[in-house]
Amino acid sequence: RAKEEAGDAIRLYDRRMDEAQRDRSALAMELRAALDSDAFELHYQPQTLLSDGAVTGYEALIRWRHPTRGLLGPDAFIGVAERTGLIRDIGTWVLHAACREAAGWDPSLRIAVNVSPRQLSQSDFVEQVGDALIASGLAPERLEIELTEASMIEDHAQLRAVMAALKTLGVRVAMDDYGAGYASLAALRNFPFDKIKIDREFIETLGSDPQSTAIVRSTLMLGRALGIPVLAEGVTTEAGRRILEAEGCREGQGFLFGRPVPAAELAGRAAIDADRPGPVSGPIA
Ligand code: C2E
Ligand code: MG
Ligand code: MG
Ligand code: MG
Repeated sequence: RAKEEAGDAIRLYDRRMDEAQRDRSALAMELRAALDSDAFELHYQPQTLLSDGAVTGYEALIRWRHPTRGLLGPDAFIGVAERTGLIRDIGTWVLHAACREAAGWDPSLRIAVNVSPRQLSQSDFVEQVGDALIASGLAPERLEIELTEASMIEDHAQLRAVMAALKTLGVRVAMDDYGAGYASLAALRNFPFDKIKIDREFIETLGSDPQSTAIVRSTLMLGRALGIPVLAEGVTTEAGRRILEAEGCREGQGFLFGRPVPAAELAGRAAIDADRPGPVSGPIA
């Protein structure tokens, strides 16, 4: 009886694995076709000063205009792209598209681009960044590469070399999703980041959850002690914005300030931002 049940369970498991495998290969083929047919697009979300809402830059977030499933977010396909290696070509496309788009904005605005571990480990990654800068004419200081902890677990020496090369180019590097992983503190000790982005998990519960509040406060202290600016992700409420500002956080990103929007919608906004006097016109430290 038990043996029979175990047998059934294994057969079911095998079938599910086959299905998952098939789904993944189908998705991989669709991703390849999407690249070839230009079905990816970048949406841009503002990063703003908490004090007056002035926009300092935008984060590029990939979307896939799927022929039948509608507009898909990265969670639906970046994982498979990583596992199949397609992330390399997709990542190159993202870099070029983001730099090209940002080159047309007010020069005070930064562009933040997410880079995944597999992309970063390519031997020609820095060259690709350089190519995107040259092709677009974007000033290197305006480009910020966002890395998550997942990029920091493998080859420390290699990552340090990549970061040093990016710095030589003049490109900045931000640590994304700070606090979401297990080794965020060690990462700050091991690598020279230009910015810390506190994971939105802590920001969403700011004020209601004492743990989150304490962690956010101490991260802001840490940033000050290390001389690294801190940005809060996932700011959704005015109350949250006020707490962050009172705790000494300068910059935020989140639905309170704006959702990610296509470049076309941004064109007007970036122009308006460019006309604004004050903090926008000078890059923040
Ligand atoms: P991330 O880099 O941490 O990006 C922030 C994510 O939080 C985005 O989700 C954004 O839409 C969402 N978000 C922003 N503000 C709020 C808020 O106030 N509340 C809530 N609930 N969510 C907010 P998205 O666009 O689905 O991207 C998810 C992740 O996919 C990104 O997290 C990033 O790790 C990855 N990703 C996005 N674009 C790219 C890309 O071009 N290349 C690579 N390699 N990864 C990307
Ligand atoms: Mg990011
Ligand atoms: Mg993040
Ligand atoms: Mg994330």
